[in-house]
Amino acid sequence: MAERTLFQKIETGDIPADIIYEDDVCFAFRDIAPQAPTHVLVVPRKPIPTLNDLEAEDAELVGRLLLAARKIAAQEGLDGGYRTVFNCGPDANQTVFHIHLHLLGGRSMSWPPG
Ligand code: 5GP
Repeated sequence: MAERTLFQKIETGDIPADIIYEDDVCFAFRDIAPQAPTHVLVVPRKPIPTLNDLEAEDAELVGRLLLAARKIAAQEGLDGGYRTVFNCGPDANQTVFHIHLHLLGGRSMSWPPG
């Protein structure tokens, strides 16, 4: 059996985290090193390593992550807007190889990102 990812260990409670949202496809918890007043990771239950590993059958799953992010943003009161980011691969500094959508908000942000 494949080694479980860090985020699967969070899903099962083996690694503690502040889980703030769950549905049948994904779950979400606060980032341990927040880069904004609200910084949440939305993670599919299916452990897909990177965006490059997505299959056509995952199209709905990816949409569901974005819909969950929208719900969480409302729950968190991010009325002024928010940013969503998927990091993919070394140039984007992906560090956990189980895809996750960063939801950042609660401050104004600059563009381009660093
Ligand atoms: P990436 O760099 O792969 O796009 O994002 C991984 C994110 O996971 C980082 O923002 C990092 O702070 C967060 N992270 C890493 N380990 C943990 C952990 O044990 N708990 C939580 N809540 N977040 C983590």
